[in-house]
Amino acid sequence: MLDILVIAPHPDDAELGMGGAILKFKQEGLRVGVLDLTSGEPTPHGSVEIRARETMAASKVLELDWRENLALPNRSLEPTLENRAKLAGVFRLQQPRWLFAPYWVDAHPDHMAATELVEAARFWAKLSKTDLPGKAHHPRRIFNYYCVHLKLAIQPALVLDIADQWERKLASIRCYESQFITGRPTESPTFLERLRAEAATWGKMIGTEYGEPFTCREPLGMSSMGGLI
Ligand SMILES: [Zn+2]
Repeated sequence: MLDILVIAPHPDDAELGMGGAILKFKQEGLRVGVLDLTSGEPTPHGSVEIRARETMAASKVLELDWRENLALPNRSLEPTLENRAKLAGVFRLQQPRWLFAPYWVDAHPDHMAATELVEAARFWAKLSKTDLPGKAHHPRRIFNYYCVHLKLAIQPALVLDIADQWERKLASIRCYESQFITGRPTESPTFLERLRAEAATWGKMIGTEYGEPFTCREPLGMSSMGGLI
């Protein structure tokens, strides 16, 4: 059983969007899993085998408790009833308290389909009198992380301080050599340098070195103001 389940359209989206948060959750003793919906392949420098190796290495860096791939079709991910049932089955078997899905505005159709699938599957997961596996379960919250293929000026609901997790997050992203290093321009600013600048900008917004933004369609409930910085 998981405390937190991150749903990623492609292997590497979870690391890019919320690697710092995952590391922080793990340090707090929570059980964290990632479900990749597709292989993410084909890509110019990757293959299914290379990507699987890279994913395994990144999972070790993040110290994930659980990671699986739902093997839905990359580039043509659709929020079908069949895919909804597969995802709802995972929610019922893993019983996560919180879900993390991609932000709902994106240029990548797989990302938008993933968000729609997560929201629909969350609803289905709580149904009784169904042939879905596991036990009826309703994850209490869906948060949205940003791994967006659009130059959006976003207004997140919260920014998480990931100053202490940043270098390890970067190490998890570096595991995807076929995606972020091979064939990428080597002159500054490199892809990874841009990522650091972006994380530093979010950190600046909350007075820390690095940050990760999140949002939520539903209001955030708080038991105290103690966690605010
Ligand atoms: Zn993606």
